[in-house]
Amino acid sequence: MYDAIVIGGGIVGMSAAYHLVRGGAKTLLIDRHHEGRATDAGAGILAPATSGVTLDPAWFAFGVICVDYYPALIGQLRQEQDGDTGYAVCGKLTVAVSEDEIAPFQHAREVVWERQRRRGIPSSDDLYDVTSEQAQAIFPLLAPVHGAFYYRGGARVDGRMLTAALAKASASHHLEQKQSMVDRLIIEDGQVVGAVADGESFRAGKVIIAGGAWSRQFGDQLGVQIPVEPQRGQIVHLDLPDVDTSAFPVIVAFHGHYMVPWADHRIVVGATRETGSGFDPVTSAIGMQEVLGEALRVAPGLKSAQFREIRVGLRPNTIDNLPVLGEVPRIGNLFLSTGHGASGLQLGPYSGKLAADWALGQTLETDISAFRISRFN
Ligand SMILES: Cc1cc2nc3c(=O)[nH]c(=O)nc-3n(C[C@H](O)[C@H](O)[C@H](O)COP(=O)(O)OP(=O)(O)OC[C@H]3O[C@@H](n4cnc5c(N)ncnc54)[C@H](O)[C@@H]3O)c2cc1C
Repeated sequence: MYDAIVIGGGIVGMSAAYHLVRGGAKTLLIDRHHEGRATDAGAGILAPATSGVTLDPAWFAFGVICVDYYPALIGQLRQEQDGDTGYAVCGKLTVAVSEDEIAPFQHAREVVWERQRRRGIPSSDDLYDVTSEQAQAIFPLLAPVHGAFYYRGGARVDGRMLTAALAKASASHHLEQKQSMVDRLIIEDGQVVGAVADGESFRAGKVIIAGGAWSRQFGDQLGVQIPVEPQRGQIVHLDLPDVDTSAFPVIVAFHGHYMVPWADHRIVVGATRETGSGFDPVTSAIGMQEVLGEALRVAPGLKSAQFREIRVGLRPNTIDNLPVLGEVPRIGNLFLSTGHGASGLQLGPYSGKLAADWALGQTLETDISAFRISRFN
């Protein structure tokens, strides 16, 4: 008998399990580790404060809390285990390279500055316009730009490394893990009391579903729709053996793509957003053409970069781009933490913590009412 079972071992489930075992709960994490796990492919951009789209206010408030949680979590993990997480505050440069991007750039700039006026985030010291020359000095591979602004607080994280670090720290707090597929929940008198994985039953006081794009399979049993859909993303890792990439910022332009630098002479360029892809984590010629064409348009200095690898993941998307967090009406002992879409590396560690707080019987410190499953049902 466990205090808690967590279904799913991506960033959300692993964070939930980590916070549970740190809180003293006897916990079992069951993870199938499907091919296409989003956490393994995610670019890792952490910068909700400079998102240039008009965001749902609930998402924005939550996104800022989630990313503010990172430094404390990373500091804690450094003390508990010796693996790196890839977390760094590297800055973020938003650019308009071609004329068709000028209008969306100006719109994004207005959104970000207006939000700053209203909420004071980011601080004016951390957000400023830069000239084309300054932009190229910050990121020398860049094309000349029509406009650019820089956010000093932009950060990035490596989803695989962070998940591995959480797993390592959790093991020292006695997390039990099983690589297996949960076929169904065990429900008695309207209460979830466990799960069946590969024919074996496991009982627990609380169950958390953090199954990413695969979460909807539990909807029928729970009598609710969990409208989370896979959206394929293909992303390319490029090597620049002769270039020092360690001080480069994240780059975002306006054809829906971005670049994320890493200290090991690597730049990650992405990504496709293939809505309706189904559960099919494949790479494609057209996907590569899109991602590489866009990368070279924004940063012609990448033309001699070498291929390291292509990653592909299935984002757990919802129709309103908000996550699904909280209990399910009329079902006891169950918490959903899924539907994090294109922002799960930003939101996931803190979402997992909230799920753990719930299972530990604590009052949630953050309002998640906008994210409840009842908005769909
Ligand atoms: C190309 C790409 C770029 C991205 N870039 C960013 C970014 O820059 N910033 C950002 O914040 N986010 C980004 N994301 C999104 C982010 O990666 C995801 O939102 C996040 O990783 C989702 O985490 P998760 O734990 O919910 O799901 P996943 O990582 O998909 O993990 C779900 C896990 O649950 C397991 N599972 C499911 N069902 C069962 C079952 N029945 N039994 C057992 N196990 C089960 C699966 O096997 C899997 O291991 C990106 C995603 C992609 C694909």
